Amino acid sequence: MAAIEATNVSKRYDTVIALDRVNLTVEEGETFGFLGPNGAGKSTFINALLDFVKPTDGSLSIFGHDCQREGVAARNRIGVLPEGYSVFERLTGRQHVEYAIESKDADDDPIALLDRVNMRDAADRNAADYSKGMAQRLVLAMALAGEPDLLLLDEPTTGLDPNGAAEMRQILKEENERGATIFFSSHILEQVEAVCDRVGILQAGELVAVDTIEGLRESLGGGTKLVITPSQLQNGTLQAIRTVEGVETAVMREDTTIEVTCTNDAKMDVLVELRDAGVDVVNFRTEEASLEDMFVEYTNNR
Ligand code: ADP
Repeated sequence: MAAIEATNVSKRYDTVIALDRVNLTVEEGETFGFLGPNGAGKSTFINALLDFVKPTDGSLSIFGHDCQREGVAARNRIGVLPEGYSVFERLTGRQHVEYAIESKDADDDPIALLDRVNMRDAADRNAADYSKGMAQRLVLAMALAGEPDLLLLDEPTTGLDPNGAAEMRQILKEENERGATIFFSSHILEQVEAVCDRVGILQAGELVAVDTIEGLRESLGGGTKLVITPSQLQNGTLQAIRTVEGVETAVMREDTTIEVTCTNDAKMDVLVELRDAGVDVVNFRTEEASLEDMFVEYTNNR
């Protein structure tokens, strides 16, 4: 059964269309990255799954439970790191986690959960004194209570330093290995690239792409990036490269290098085209196009 099923989901706020007919299926056991620039509609989608927001149109379900009509049953199976969470200022970290365990009717050891997010030493401090990153870790520990079947995380690495972000990714991997489905949003692409089986790219409320990272690379012309240092550039050189079959983009970087995204097969043709145009190549290397490149391409082309 699908962990998440969205059918034609739209959400309109007066003049803003936050979600525009989104269709998405996330299978059980997947780690799915929900990508998009700020304002794309990511939180709105997650909030609709949690029934904090009512879709204007369409329907959403979690493990077959309709998120709006059977919200309690749907939420029972998930651990959540919501957007704009807050902590209870008078409770310690341990008390927060105890509360989460109790509300899930689970029997986890609160200290073991705090240990997983590296918060054991702060367990008995008041959450009011926690930094933003510590509060974030605490809310993650709460989300892990009761071994949820689905983890829904809204921008889980925001507020964490690079070490904290790496630890977060490690926890997501462990949870996925345990069998949990992971759905998390991010506007930071490398966070997603490292852990996701598939990604969806949301742009102005529309899901413009859903694929594996490999699949996205392929659909963007093989996703090879050729970085060329020419001896000199002539007018029209970039234009000439762009006419080579299999070339997606050709741009100048820092006046000294040309970056070309193209299919694997087109690489030699690009170099031949340069030679024919009388441009000597001082140096060239190839790179795999990053998700960053793809993302920029998807969101700029619209
Ligand atoms: P993201 O999480 O991708 O940054 P959001 O889902 O927060 O995007 O927002 C999507 C769009 O919906 C934005 O244009 C935002 O301003 C708008 N929006 C979100 N919540 C509300 C609301 N309660 N009232 C009006 N507009 C909203």
